[in-house]
Amino acid sequence: MNQLKYDVVVVGAGPAGMAAAIKAQENGASVALLERSSELGGILNQCIHSGFGLRYFKEELTGPEYAQRFAEQVAEKNIDVYLDTMVLDIDRKRNIQAINRDGILEICAGAVVLAMGCRERTRGAVHIPGDRPAGVFTAGLAQRYVNIENQKPGTRAVILGSGDIGLIMARRLTLEGIEVAGVYELMPYANGLYRNIKNCLDDFGIPLHLSTTVTRINGHGRVTSIETSKVDENLKPIPGTEEVIPCDTLLLSIGLIPENELSLKAGVTLNPVTNGASVDSRLQTDVPGIFACGNVLHVHDLVDNVSIEAEQAGIEAAAFAAGNSFTDSGELEVRPGGNVRYTVPSRIEPDLPVTMKFRSMKPVENGRIQIKSGDREVYTSKRSQKIVPSIMQTVRLKPSMLGSCTEPLTVSIVEEEE
Ligand SMILES: Cc1cc2nc3c(=O)[nH]c(=O)nc-3n(C[C@H](O)[C@H](O)[C@H](O)COP(=O)(O)OP(=O)(O)OC[C@H]3O[C@@H](n4cnc5c(N)ncnc54)[C@H](O)[C@@H]3O)c2cc1C
Repeated sequence: MNQLKYDVVVVGAGPAGMAAAIKAQENGASVALLERSSELGGILNQCIHSGFGLRYFKEELTGPEYAQRFAEQVAEKNIDVYLDTMVLDIDRKRNIQAINRDGILEICAGAVVLAMGCRERTRGAVHIPGDRPAGVFTAGLAQRYVNIENQKPGTRAVILGSGDIGLIMARRLTLEGIEVAGVYELMPYANGLYRNIKNCLDDFGIPLHLSTTVTRINGHGRVTSIETSKVDENLKPIPGTEEVIPCDTLLLSIGLIPENELSLKAGVTLNPVTNGASVDSRLQTDVPGIFACGNVLHVHDLVDNVSIEAEQAGIEAAAFAAGNSFTDSGELEVRPGGNVRYTVPSRIEPDLPVTMKFRSMKPVENGRIQIKSGDREVYTSKRSQKIVPSIMQTVRLKPSMLGSCTEPLTVSIVEEEE
C-alpha cells in the first residue's frame, strides 16, 4: 500500500478541481489532483460547442479549449496528477483512500477540496410509465455518444427538459441529421439560458412545449413513440390532453445531482435544497479543512463561475493547510427569503468579503434583490430587472456592509410593479 502526504488534495479534475489545484499550488501548498477518468477536464471534454470563457478569458471558447487552458497550467506547475484514480473514502481527519492500477493509495491531506461535479437524473427519478426499451438516454450520455464516441443515438428524438444540456443537445442532434420532434418542459417557463433557447431551438425551428411532460414511453425492444400530456398548475398531467409523438429516441434533461457520496462519508452536512455541502464564506464545509466548489457544491450555469469559485476554494485550502488561523468573528446564518430557492454560502463571517450566490424560485419581470439582517437592509439592487431561475444571481458583500450585523441574513427577490 502507498502512503502519501500532501498539503492539499483535490478530488476531481474538472474545471473546478483544476482551478482549485492551481491556486493551492500558487499559494505554497504541495498538491495532489485525483481524477477517476483518463483525462483532465471533466464534463467539458464532451461539450464541443462554443460559449465558454466569455467572462473568465473574455473570449469565446469550446468546452475542450476552456479545459485545455487549465490543463496546460496544471502541467506547468508542480502538481502531482493521478489519473485513472478513483477516490473511495475520505474521513473527518482528511485521510483519503483511492484506488488505481497500482493498488490502494492512502493519502493524508492537510486540507481537501471536493470537486466531484454532478451526475444526471435518470428516468427512475421521474417514474415515466412504460416498458424499458432501448432509445432512452440522459442528455449527457447522448452528448458523449455523439461528441466522443461518434455514435448516432437514433433518427427521431424527443427531449424532455429545457435545461441547457437538453437545449444544446436539440441543436447537436439536428446538426447530426437526427430529427428533433420537440422539447417538452414541465414548468410554464424554459429552464435554460436565453441564448441557448434562441441559438439552439429558435434558429433551428425546434418547438418548445411548456407545461407539458412525457407520460408514457411506448415500445418494447426500442422506443416507438412517447405520449405527452399538458400539466395543470400543480404540475399534474391533465387527462384528455394526451398526444402520441412517434420517435425512436427520448433524451432526458431533467436535472443534475451533485456527487456527494464521499462528502457524506467525511461527515459533511449537505444543504437539503442544493444537495451540495453547506459552506461558509471560505467555501469550507462544516468539517474543518474540507472545502467544496463547482457543481458538487451547487449546479452552475456557466463554467466561468465554477473556475472563479474554485480558485477561492484552492486559496482557502492552502491557507488552512499552512496552519493560518482563521479569525472567528462568529458566524451568521444565511436564509433564503421571498422567491429565493437557496443561497451559497449558508453561513458567513461578517468580517470577510463574500460573494453571495442564489437562484430565484420562479421568473419575475421586475425583481429587486434585497439582503437584510433582521430589519436592517444590508444590500438592495439599484434597479429592478428580469430574474429567472436559470441564471445564478451573485452579490458581492464587503465587511463594511456586514460589520455590525448580528442577526441572520435573509436574501429575497422583491417583485415590483411595472
Ligand atoms: C452531462 C453534462 C453536460 C453539460 N454540458 C454543459 C454545457 O454544454 N455547457 C455548460 O456551460 N455547462 C455544461 N455542463 C455543466 C458543467 O458541468 C459545469 O459548467 C462544469 O463542468 C462543472 O465543473 P466541475 O469541475 O464542478 O464538474 P465536472 O466537470 O463534472 O468534473 C468533476 C470531475 O470529478 C471527477 N470525479 C467525480 N468523482 C470522483 C471520484 N470519486 N474520484 C475521482 N474523481 C472523481 C469526475 O470524473 C470529473 O472529471 C454540463 C454538465 C453535465 C453533467
